[in-house]
Order: sequence, then C-alpha cells, then structure tokens
Amino acid sequence: MYVDGEWVNGSAGEVREVVNPATGEVIARVAEGTEDDARAAIRAARRAFDEDGWAEVTALERAQLLFRLADAIEEHADLLTRLETLDNGKPLREAQFDVADAANCFRYYAGLATKPHGQAVNVPAPSQTFVVREPVGVCGQIIPWNYPLLMAAWKLAPALAAGNTCILKPSEITPLSALMLSRLIHEVGFPRGVVNIVLGAGAVVGQTLAESHDVDKIAFTGGTVTGRKIMQAATGNLKKISLELGGKSPNIVFADADFETAVDYALFGIFANAGQVCSAGSRLLLEASIHDQFVEALVDRAKKIRVGDGFHPDTEMGPLVSQQHLEKVERYIQIGLEEGATLRCGGERVRVDSGGYFLAPTIFTNTRPDMRIVQEEIFGPVLAVQKFEDERDAIRLANDTVYGLAGAVFTSDIAKAHRVIQKLRAGITWMNTYHPTYNETPWGGYKQSGIGRELGTFGFEEYTEVKQINVNLAVKPSGWFRG
Ligand code: NAD
Repeated sequence: MYVDGEWVNGSAGEVREVVNPATGEVIARVAEGTEDDARAAIRAARRAFDEDGWAEVTALERAQLLFRLADAIEEHADLLTRLETLDNGKPLREAQFDVADAANCFRYYAGLATKPHGQAVNVPAPSQTFVVREPVGVCGQIIPWNYPLLMAAWKLAPALAAGNTCILKPSEITPLSALMLSRLIHEVGFPRGVVNIVLGAGAVVGQTLAESHDVDKIAFTGGTVTGRKIMQAATGNLKKISLELGGKSPNIVFADADFETAVDYALFGIFANAGQVCSAGSRLLLEASIHDQFVEALVDRAKKIRVGDGFHPDTEMGPLVSQQHLEKVERYIQIGLEEGATLRCGGERVRVDSGGYFLAPTIFTNTRPDMRIVQEEIFGPVLAVQKFEDERDAIRLANDTVYGLAGAVFTSDIAKAHRVIQKLRAGITWMNTYHPTYNETPWGGYKQSGIGRELGTFGFEEYTEVKQINVNLAVKPSGWFRG
C-alpha cells in the first residue's frame, strides 16, 4: 500500500489474492490493510494538510503536478491497460478507453485548479464581502471494481485540484491499477502524505475512513446498501458526504426512433462492460407497436456478441468480475424465471477455454413492473424489456424505481424527446444515444442513486468549503451596547 509517501505492507502482515476473472487464476498477492493502516494513512493525510503546507501550495503548482500525472498515465498507458484487463476482465478496447479517459480527467481538473471561482458581493455599506472556496481537508475516497483506474481518477483529480489530501481505498477485487497509479503519483512529485492508497476490506478500511473524526469528507462510489452504511458511519463528526450509487436506468424507445440506431445503443447500453456499469440501460422500454420486431433484432444481435478473454482481440464482452458476482447475477436470472418473465436469450454461462466467469448476454421480455428483475440492480449483462402504450405510460414506467441515476430516450420527435427527459427523475440523460460521459459534465443521481455530483465544475465544488469574508470599511465601534 502507499502510505505517507512509502510502500508498506499491512500492519497485520496479511495478504489478499487477486484473481484474473477470465481464468480464475491468482495473478497477484497484495497487502491487506487493517484499521491501523487506515488510521496511519489518515494521520499522514492530516499532517500533510494541517502542517506540511499542501493547502498553501499554489493552484498553479497543483495544476502542474496533475498535468504531469496525466502525462505519466499516458506514458504508461499500455501497462495500465493490460493491468486493468487482467484484474477486471474488461476487453482491452474498453480498458484502453478508460486509461485515456483517466488521463484526461486529471488534465481537466489540472486546468480547473487555476480558474478563479470566488465572488465579490455588494452588501450594505460599510462592508465589502468576498466569497472564497477552500479545500475541505482530508478526504476518504472509496471506489468500486467496475472502472478501477477511472474511478480513482474521478475521485483524486478534483480533490487534489482543490487542494485536499486523500486516502483512496480501491475495491479489494481490483487493486492493481491503483497501485500502479501510486507509483506514478510518487514519481511526478506529489509531497508525502498528500495521496495515500490503502488496500483492504470495505467493512474494515472503508468503515474506518467513514467513521474517523479526522476525515473531513467521505466520497463513495458503490452499491446503495453500502452507501447507506457509509452515510450512517459519517454521522459521528457530520463529515461531508458524496455518494455515487446504483441504478436501474430506463432506455425508452419510441416507434418513430431510428430503428438501427436504437437497437445498437440498446445493446451498448446494457452489454458494455458486461453490464457492470452503474448507469447501464438495464430496463429497455419499448413502444408496443415496435416491441416484437425490436426484440427480435436485439436478440439476434445479442447472440452474436463475442464473449471471451479480454486479451483476445475479437472479444466484445469479457467475464464478470468474480465468481461471487457471477453467482449473484445467476441468482437474478433464476428469480426472473421464477417470476414468470420470458428468457429470450442467454441466461447461461459461456464456456471459454481459459475457464473464468463468463455469462451470455441475457434478455428477458414479458416482465411486470413489480418484478425484482425490473426493480433491483443486477449489475450484469441482463436486460429487462418493458412495453409501453404512450408517452405518459413511458414516463410513468421509467420513473417507477427507487433509483434515479440515468435514462435515455430514442425518438425522431425532438419536442417529445425534451418532454420525456424533463419528466425523468434522473441525473444523467441522453437523447438518441446511450452512455457518453464527459469529464466536463456533472455525474450523479436523483433519489437513491446518490448524493452530490462528480465531474465538471460541480465535482470540483464538492471538494470545497465556501467561506464568506466580511470586511468593515468604517473601522469604529458599533455602539450596540452603550455601557
Ligand atoms: P460495493 O458497495 O460492494 O463496494 C464499493 C466499495 O465500497 C469497495 O471499495 C468496498 O470495499 C467498499 N465497502 C464495502 N463495504 C463497506 C463499508 N461497510 N464501509 C465502507 N466501505 C465499504 O460496490 P461494488 O460491488 O464494488 O460496485 C458495484 C456497485 O457500485 C453497483 O451498485 C454500482 O451501481 C455502483 N457504482 C456506481 C457508480 C456511480 O457513479 N453512481 C459507478 C460505479 C459503480
């Protein structure tokens, strides 16, 4: 692990095996962090912020470090890409994209670090008021396994740009690219203690970060159940929280949509990254008049998706991230069958020579809104198709979930597209596309999909406190008390 500018073993001397999901083989043994390790990292981050002067480092210097880190990621892009595929299983093509995006995220926030963002306010004389933004302080950052490097970038880049110090806890399932990132962070010259990377179990290291009174903010990406635990753990010192949680996002296709485009994005929406995407279009809402024809075209293409080892150049969809996760997704397929939905394709494992945790792209039709496969996040390559009659019906079904992360609409009627998007209770929406994500735009959910936003200027502001500074321009006693 990387604590206070050094690589250390876990204080209990324990290690955890890291497995390649495409083969089931152990590919690395990494340090397993303890509560003591988390506390040591918090102390280092505290000292770096309070005493060693990171908070006073100029915005330009912080920007230069972040630019250098972005360059270093690009210089090591090949290695990082292969590590990501090895550890997470995603096809090289996807990993390449993630690594490039991670570099760009650091670059985006490097640019933002130096932009003015205060206010001067005209308050009644004799005062002049300024509003400035300051770093929150020590930030605990907990991330999942589906985009290991990219999630690390989404967390570290805005926090460091704003002048905070960080303790990042990667998922215990996919720690390798974050460890490589720690090397680059060290090499480009971040002062010791500014970034710490602690490995280990969520309930141990993550919980310690969320509970600690020496942590000023906790930023979490992961499941909604874990998010709730983190929110509770954070109450001790009422630390700031931002939560990026799960989803069950609707992808709405009207009969007047461009058919080929809508089929294509419906596939991409649910089967990219083997469906292990928080914003996946896991519910496909089809207008009744095109339902049958659309499902037929979709099933036909889903069956052709090449599932296999991410290192194989032809692979279009990799394995699920772990045996445990594969079994969880399979349980949902069983639930779907028991609930009476029709399995149109998939539903079974794909035999790949290497072994591994491969599942075929799976599509259910004849669903009802109350089914668990329609309501609950499966986080795998499983699509639930729903049928709607008209615009109102589509909106009602789309919003009929506790989640509110993302949603899309496909139609050639631009006014209708806007009407539907306006009514969607979700933070990320698309018209005639699915999934494009930009470092420049805010990412996060309504309802139980989270609190706060990442990325863009919104994501930067989440790592700042706002201070008003009132200056008395008529320096004399107030005279309020006469005695
Ligand atoms: P998870 O909630 O199981 O774990 C996420 C992280 O939290 C891991 O690092 C884990 O170790 C840690 N953790 C677990 N229990 C903890 C606890 N009690 N206290 C503190 N930390 C704890 O999620 P996962 O299975 O790794 O990832 C999948 C989930 O992440 C899905 O629900 C998905 O929707 C969500 N996700 C959301 C976004 C988003 O931006 N909204 C992005 C990616 C993933």
